[in-house]
Amino acid sequence: MKIDEKVEPIYKEVLDRNPGEVEFHQAVREVLESLGPVLVKHPEFADHKIIERICEPERQIIFRVPWVDDSGTVQINRGFRVEFNSALGPYKGGMRFHPSVYLGIIKFLGFEQIFKNALTGLPIGGGKGGSDFDPKGKSDDEVMRFCQSFMTELYRHIGENTDVPAGDIGVGGREIGYLFGQYKRITNRWEAGVLTGKGLDWGGSLVRTEATGYGATFFVDEMLKVRNDSFEGKKCVVSGSGNVSIYTIEKIAQLGGTTVACSDSNGYIYDEKGIDLELVKQIKEVERRRIKVYAETYKHAKYISGGNIWDVPCQVAMPSATQNEINGKDAEKLVQNGCIAVGEGANMPTTPEGIKVFLDAKIAYGPGKAANAGGVATSALEMQQNACRDSWTFDYTEKRLQDIMKNIHATCYETADEYGAPGNYVTGANIAGFIKAANAMVAFGVI
Ligand code: NDP
Repeated sequence: MKIDEKVEPIYKEVLDRNPGEVEFHQAVREVLESLGPVLVKHPEFADHKIIERICEPERQIIFRVPWVDDSGTVQINRGFRVEFNSALGPYKGGMRFHPSVYLGIIKFLGFEQIFKNALTGLPIGGGKGGSDFDPKGKSDDEVMRFCQSFMTELYRHIGENTDVPAGDIGVGGREIGYLFGQYKRITNRWEAGVLTGKGLDWGGSLVRTEATGYGATFFVDEMLKVRNDSFEGKKCVVSGSGNVSIYTIEKIAQLGGTTVACSDSNGYIYDEKGIDLELVKQIKEVERRRIKVYAETYKHAKYISGGNIWDVPCQVAMPSATQNEINGKDAEKLVQNGCIAVGEGANMPTTPEGIKVFLDAKIAYGPGKAANAGGVATSALEMQQNACRDSWTFDYTEKRLQDIMKNIHATCYETADEYGAPGNYVTGANIAGFIKAANAMVAFGVI
């Protein structure tokens, strides 16, 4: 898609000021492509240079993370926290531990987080962090020592009213535990609201573990309802086999669908009878092993090493692994094979070419910043419970999550209509999220 001529120079400036950060460029471009008509209705946003300001992080922190491995060797990783925008609340967003992490990845994620968090309707700004540390193959002790070293720098930048990190790829309950423990120790504060995704015995919220996957599935359910359809009887494919994938597969099953394939970065499992989620949980959450182990238990299931999961025919596709995992060709294949809905559990999993294929085909396409907002929304619910030292029931929290996802869907749908792009959730999400943050920025003056 073309960028409006008023917005084009801003995009060029972003390219010049942030060389080599291709994922960040991609995320910015996708939002800026939607904003031309917004400046016509809201000339004040141009007068206040809101787009220029929103593309520049408020603060970027990069730090050394030294730690000692089990053989006694000193290891050095790099830590990041990008505090992107605090117009709507404390910076909020997860931390990713993966060898591919560099500043451009954290900035793309932090930028998306501004609009996603705005869409939730809850008081949270946008931020993201992480490290190029790879938890895979590390012992619990090594992960603990790394997390302690990471927090020894991070603690001075975060706080329940400042910046509230959570999990993302490679950061689950185990890592949040080590990080919270070290924060508590060096600050001498039992400050539950400083991190979300905590354990249930020490300030965590029911449904947070399930929230991103459940929320993405609720979002797709809403898109299907608009088309007088439902998950009932649908064949689904969910990439990844981590936190988001597992709870997407669980909610799909509860809504009457069947997931026939899931994956990790080495290959995918195809099980025509439907993925046995208890086995996946045992392999991934308990044993921390690879997904290929699934085919050792079920001989009828196939493990396709290095294969492309998007070759598997399905009616609903839910990319839930990582960025740019669906390219133009994958998207064409999905559409040709009869896919009618795509809900992004992962952040920016579809390339611009892939998005174009989905939009041209007029299938129901829910972009990540809307579809996967249930995770951060439930983190904000965890913050609410921490603030009043309370804990809610599973059913009540899940109902709150479902209502939030319904609202996000309705906001995106109505905004797309209002801006002349009916059914285009990309336009709807970008514009609705942007306007909310932009209005606050105008109100605050030039800061
Ligand atoms: P996990 O670490 O729990 O799981 C990630 C899964 O994706 C694993 O199966 C992993 O396989 C696979 N994966 C990761 N990187 C790649 C890659 N480069 N190529 C292929 N597969 C890959 O992470 P989450 O489930 O938490 O996160 C998944 C996605 O959802 C991310 O895009 C994240 O940003 C997004 N997200 C997560 C939220 C949350 O609450 N956790 C909230 C909103 C979005 P392997 O083990 O082989 O690496």
